[in-house]
Amino acid sequence: MIRLLKRVARKAIDLRKKFRANKLHRSYERNSGYCVICEQETVFVIYHSWLRDNYKCERCNTIPRNRALINSVNIFSPDWKNLQVHESSPGGKVSEFLKKNCKDYCSSHYYTDVERGKYKGEHRSEDLCQLTFEDNSFDLFLTSDVFEHVMEPEKAFSEIARVLKPGGMHIFTMPWYPKLKKTVQRASLNEDGTINYLEEAVYHGNPIAGEGSLVTFDWSLDFTDFIFLHSGMTTTIFVDRDRKKGIDGEFIEVFISRKPDGK
Ligand SMILES: [Zn+2]
Repeated sequence: MIRLLKRVARKAIDLRKKFRANKLHRSYERNSGYCVICEQETVFVIYHSWLRDNYKCERCNTIPRNRALINSVNIFSPDWKNLQVHESSPGGKVSEFLKKNCKDYCSSHYYTDVERGKYKGEHRSEDLCQLTFEDNSFDLFLTSDVFEHVMEPEKAFSEIARVLKPGGMHIFTMPWYPKLKKTVQRASLNEDGTINYLEEAVYHGNPIAGEGSLVTFDWSLDFTDFIFLHSGMTTTIFVDRDRKKGIDGEFIEVFISRKPDGK
């Protein structure tokens, strides 16, 4: 009798799981395609109309800007797996993918409790505005949604150009607002190190800081001039909206800044 009850209960649970799976399957729009992070065919699922955070690869769970970044790295630097690559502020599937596939990959975080140039676990402690790397160290420098949080971007772009080899590239994502026409600085640093809020404080999630990261800039059309002025790098804005690659939605632009190769 007990055995029979157990069997009935198991059957009920199985049926419920099946029903849920069917329901999930039916309720979300999906398309097949190729994921550049899984490096294989997959299915991309739309869980909400705000695709930026809700258009995911069924296999690796990445979002469009993750795939847009790697897609751009593949296109603009096809030999990246054999190059010297640095990623600032790593986290998630993109960093795991880069680390696994790149022969010479290193990463850094902005740790306030670790001396710059020293390591905390696998990541080096670095301040983008005062990097401790030597000149001409890297072929590629990668950042994902970092530059909307940097207090002194003029220094950071200049430092990235310094540590890139001639012809090297900074490939990055960040929220970009062309409709604003002009970049809005939301916060700056006072001389005593305190924050001067120029606009209402907005925070984004940060993998190493529970309170999140303050948004310091809403970048607009003038940002390529800003980069050139402070670093001498020219910037390409690349959009490859393609559902077959799972790249669609808001803020899927990728920026490619090149250090002149001196030829
Ligand atoms: Zn994937």
